Amino acid sequence: MRLTTWGACGTVTGSCHLLEHKGFRLLLDCGVYQGEAEDANSAPFPFNPRQIDALVLSHAHLDHSGRIPRLFHNGYGGRVYATAPTLKLVRPLLEDALKLMKEDIKRARRKKLPIPELLWDSADIRTLVERSKPLPYYSSRKIGPFRITLKNAGHLPGSAFIEVRAGERILVFSGDLGNRRKETLPDPDYPRIADLTLSESTYGDRPHRPFQETLVEFAEVLSHTLDAGGKVVIPSFALERAQEILFYIRRFEAERQIPVVPVFVDSPLTTKVSEIYGQIQEAFSPLVQSFYRRGVDPFAPQQLRYTRSSEESKKINELRGPAVIIAGSGMLSGGRILHHLRHQLPHPKNAVVFVGYQPRGGLGHQLITGKSPVRIMGHEVQVRAHVYALGGFSGHAGRDELLDWLAAEKRIVLVHGEDTARKSLARRLRARGASVTLARLGQRFEI
Ligand SMILES: [Zn+2]
Repeated sequence: MRLTTWGACGTVTGSCHLLEHKGFRLLLDCGVYQGEAEDANSAPFPFNPRQIDALVLSHAHLDHSGRIPRLFHNGYGGRVYATAPTLKLVRPLLEDALKLMKEDIKRARRKKLPIPELLWDSADIRTLVERSKPLPYYSSRKIGPFRITLKNAGHLPGSAFIEVRAGERILVFSGDLGNRRKETLPDPDYPRIADLTLSESTYGDRPHRPFQETLVEFAEVLSHTLDAGGKVVIPSFALERAQEILFYIRRFEAERQIPVVPVFVDSPLTTKVSEIYGQIQEAFSPLVQSFYRRGVDPFAPQQLRYTRSSEESKKINELRGPAVIIAGSGMLSGGRILHHLRHQLPHPKNAVVFVGYQPRGGLGHQLITGKSPVRIMGHEVQVRAHVYALGGFSGHAGRDELLDWLAAEKRIVLVHGEDTARKSLARRLRARGASVTLARLGQRFEI
């Protein structure tokens, strides 16, 4: 078979790879580029979508799934294979992406700026749903001349790495590998020894901070701030991170480490994802499943409130007394989190807790590095609240876990990592005798 790497080469977004064998063309992932590389999303595909026969999706994140609607829009007519939880979770993410794309167009019209193209529409999400085929873990399935097996990647509910067999040859594609310290998700499985392993390398240059330290610090910040009557504002991604934060707040309450206060989830997308969580209980760790079996929602602190309308959202700011506010977007690129920050940052009793990556130069990065005042939605805002950045919540395998997962592999192609991370990981892998390539866009590999 032949592999061509068509995305996430030297970056952590835009995952997309093409496998060909006996004239059959199989795509592994078809994700969007995010951040600085965003412009690439409107470029034509480097292959003809009409000539792709099937697609296997590793997990729901948009940097792996977000260009699938466009693939349909441009004539793709094949199936989309993924685990059932992935197929459930990807839909609200794509609907949200479409909403944001339409808002960008409206904004450009209003400000008389160049109007971005609508790359796909809701009909393409419907087609995706119709063409979806759930593929359970561990059950090998024939797709054209390939045999495909999904195994647990431990990165999101339903996340998979993909084993592809063509004749006697085996390729393994890691997708995104999870962080073994996660208590809510199962640990990643190990791969079989392959003729070529296409692996992510996001944290290829650094091990994670011990997770226990992160949890201790998180509980301390919550108890300190809430006991003093302050509010804790947590910007978070809608899928997985927000629910993980809720999981620990519930636990801290149960262990009486923190007081019971109202916990607001102020993000319509997070609300939708949380609703799906109850329907995919089998996708979680044995610990989480044991809660569900006892009739306890492990992601629900005692005074959890999901806000729906923007009026409800605005009312949170009039509320007196301690509270936790979880809102999106996680990287502060828009969304309801901005008005919460604008209202809560000037008060010294409050705290802002970052639990995810903040891009350099962005508002989150400015707050973490102590800038004050900052500009939010056109207003100058004084920062008197305490700002904390908790590492350790990462959803990715750290360097040592990657080395462990790749321990038996002889031929490795690295994608989905910045070049510093890829180079550092490659050095360590080569030192133990593996042949390692840092994939370039459009590079071909015969297997
Ligand atoms: Zn991911």
